[in-house]
Amino acid sequence: MAGKFFLIDTTRCTACRGCQIACKQWNELPADKTKQYGSYQNPLDLNGNTYRLVRFAEYPSKKNSMAWYFFSDACRHCLAPPCKKKADQILKDAIVVNDYGAVIYTEKTKDLEKASKVIKQACPWSVPNWSKDQKQMVKCTMCRDRVDAGLLPACVKACPTGALNFGEEADIKKLTKERLAEAKKKFGAKAHIEDEKDVRVLFLIVDDFIKYKPMEL
Ligand code: SF4
Ligand code: SF4
Repeated sequence: MAGKFFLIDTTRCTACRGCQIACKQWNELPADKTKQYGSYQNPLDLNGNTYRLVRFAEYPSKKNSMAWYFFSDACRHCLAPPCKKKADQILKDAIVVNDYGAVIYTEKTKDLEKASKVIKQACPWSVPNWSKDQKQMVKCTMCRDRVDAGLLPACVKACPTGALNFGEEADIKKLTKERLAEAKKKFGAKAHIEDEKDVRVLFLIVDDFIKYKPMEL
């Protein structure tokens, strides 16, 4: 399936949160009233005002005092989106997929407030949310307004390290192969691409994905 893909190379991420802020800025989303929950992750989860969030997990380590795992989290733009499958049972084509694979929550999701929880539950990563301000379901849009104008998504443009990459499938798959080979050399056999066959957002990680999930906060 052609179209656009992301590579999220967690080996290059410094957790600067530039992507999180760029997403908020481009989408003109207000700040969340929040607090420290006991880790560097803030806010606690994706929500109606936060479409991209840098997740932090930390563990005691033998070599160092702490081992950190972090990654930039958002919608994976699934190849067969479970959220759309669920939403279609309630209101056909409230969620659509565009010609390059962006999963788009249309204005029709304004009529899905009551169903928003079951649609969120249908997402394997619990990504979408009901926005009280916009009065519709929301999540990462793949910055399709920018992409349609020939620009990179705001998060990718802001990333200073090459952790976030975006482009045509063939280019991103080639880059993914190269980065994976580098990661295997440096971090060992556990380096892999998570859920490669199901999503347009390819995560290069170097340990079991469960470790990247923040501990209960
Ligand atoms: Fe839908 Fe979740 Fe897949 Fe995004 S990651 S397309 S919200 S199921
Ligand atoms: Fe990581 Fe890049 Fe996001 Fe910074 S901008 S947190 S380096 S993915």
